[in-house]
Amino acid sequence: MRIILLGPPGAGKGTQSERIVARFGIPQLSTGDMLRAAVAAGTPVGLEAKAVMEAGGLVSDTIVVGIVADRIEEADAKSGFILDGFPRTVEQAKALDAMLAQKGIALSTVVELKVDEDALVGRISNRAAETAARGQPVRKDDTPEVFRSRLDAYRSQTAPLSDYYAKAGKLETVDGMQPIDTVTEKLMAILEPHAATAGA
Ligand code: AMP
Repeated sequence: MRIILLGPPGAGKGTQSERIVARFGIPQLSTGDMLRAAVAAGTPVGLEAKAVMEAGGLVSDTIVVGIVADRIEEADAKSGFILDGFPRTVEQAKALDAMLAQKGIALSTVVELKVDEDALVGRISNRAAETAARGQPVRKDDTPEVFRSRLDAYRSQTAPLSDYYAKAGKLETVDGMQPIDTVTEKLMAILEPHAATAGA
C-alpha cells in the first residue's frame, strides 16, 4: 500500500502516520525528518537545506526528489510506504509519478487532512510546549513567525496538489479538526480496502 498524506503543517500528518505505521506495518517516509537528520549530521544536503528550513521555505525539488528516490529503494519500503510531507510541489508530484511508473507500481491513495488554518498556529505552539516539557529539543521552525512562512509555502506551492490528485482520481479528504482518534478512524476506513487489495 502506497499512501500520501497531504495537509498543512500542524494538520496531524505525523501523528496519524505513526498510527498507520502501527496498523499496516509500512514505513513512514517523512522528508522533514530525513532533512532534519541530514542537517544534524552536517551532510552536504543538510548544509544546503538548513537555512531554507529555518526560514520556513521549501528545499529544492532536486534535493528532495533525490532523497525520496533513494529511500523508496530500501528494503522496508518495497511493500509500501506512507509519504508524509512529500510531495510538496506539483514538480515533486510529477517526479514521484515518474519514479513509480518506472518501477511499475502505483499510488494506492492520497488522503488530505483538511484543517482550519487559524487553529494551526495554536496547535503548533502546543506542540512546541509539549516537546519542551518532555525535555526534547523544540524544532527551530515551530515558532509563530516561521510557522506563518511554512503556511504561506503550503498555500502557494502545496495546496495545488489537491487538484492534481483529484484529477487523477486519487484524492480522499478527512476533516482534520475532529478529535485525533476520530481522524484515525476515518483514515483507517479509507485505507483498509487498499490494504486488502494491495497484496501488501
Ligand atoms: P515538515 O517536517 O514536513 O514540516 O518539514 C520541515 C521543513 O523541511 C519544511 O518546512 C521544508 O523546509 C522542508 N521540507 C520537508 N519536506 C519537503 C519537501 N517535500 N519539499 C521541500 N521542502 C521540504
